Amino acid sequence: MNLKKFLLLASSLLFAPFQLLIAGAAHAEAPNVVVSIKPIHSLVASIMQGVGKPSLIVEGAASPHTYSMKPSNASALEQANIVFWVGHGLEAFLEKPLETLGSDAKIVELDDAPGLEKLKFREGGAFEAHDDGDEHAHGAEDAHSGEEAHHHDEGEYDMHLWLDPANARAMAAEIEKTLAEADSGNAATYKANLEALNGRLDKLDKTIEETVTPIKDKPFIVFHDAYQYFEHRYHVKVAGSITVSPETMPGAQRLSEIHAKIEELGATCVFAEPQFEPKLVNVVLEGTQAKSGTLDPEAGTLDAGPELYFQMMESIGASLKSCLSSGS
Ligand SMILES: [Zn+2]
Repeated sequence: MNLKKFLLLASSLLFAPFQLLIAGAAHAEAPNVVVSIKPIHSLVASIMQGVGKPSLIVEGAASPHTYSMKPSNASALEQANIVFWVGHGLEAFLEKPLETLGSDAKIVELDDAPGLEKLKFREGGAFEAHDDGDEHAHGAEDAHSGEEAHHHDEGEYDMHLWLDPANARAMAAEIEKTLAEADSGNAATYKANLEALNGRLDKLDKTIEETVTPIKDKPFIVFHDAYQYFEHRYHVKVAGSITVSPETMPGAQRLSEIHAKIEELGATCVFAEPQFEPKLVNVVLEGTQAKSGTLDPEAGTLDAGPELYFQMMESIGASLKSCLSSGS
């Protein structure tokens, strides 16, 4: 070894600890974060920007209502430091895996976040799925969601909590708090990201309000009863849903009730969802003047990431406006 090489080696050994220290201060290693569904994943991804990327369980066009776990999901959960999910009554597929996780992972059920406004499942009229007794006796339909809704402790609340930007704020605050506690080295970044996210959520809220103002009094029919929070916030007029929950397919009586409701209220639009067969939508539309549109409340068609939440919410407003304001 010549002198030059020796000096190089010596200096690199000497400075290595300092380099580690500096790197550690600037970017503590990101925690391994797993999130159940796209809208929540989007909020987590916003808050983790510049630190790391959370992984997602219900990917692509899958629906949380009908999802089943893959082996890759199970191993992601096993390696997780933090798991965010909405809670019992929405991601049923996660209940058992989370119970048996038995590791040091912190599991955060976001429907417990302080400041959330929670609405009860609604019943009655075209929102009542399980009392009309005309469900077919197929095995799959016997395990209908009505039971889930009534026998679960937390099942009395509508779990589509994210469809109101004010609830997104409450969940984002809980996400930021959890991340900052688990990873204090990056706490300043999480805090700055939360502030930026809150600013964007406020703007989003105003944009949607402006978008839907002209169509607030126009009744419409949706595919599944996912929109209560959106309605509550913006006072749009959902007149009924084809099914309360996609686990349950509607019976003939419910379909004819919806059909009658379209005629009676003069509902001009029936909205399908990309994850589910549009056949039922066509059945209720038949013989009416109503048109069909598409809403994507669980963001099945959108790419996961920080922008998804905003795209999902804006596109619900835009789809409502476009279908409900045309031709009437
Ligand atoms: Zn849903």
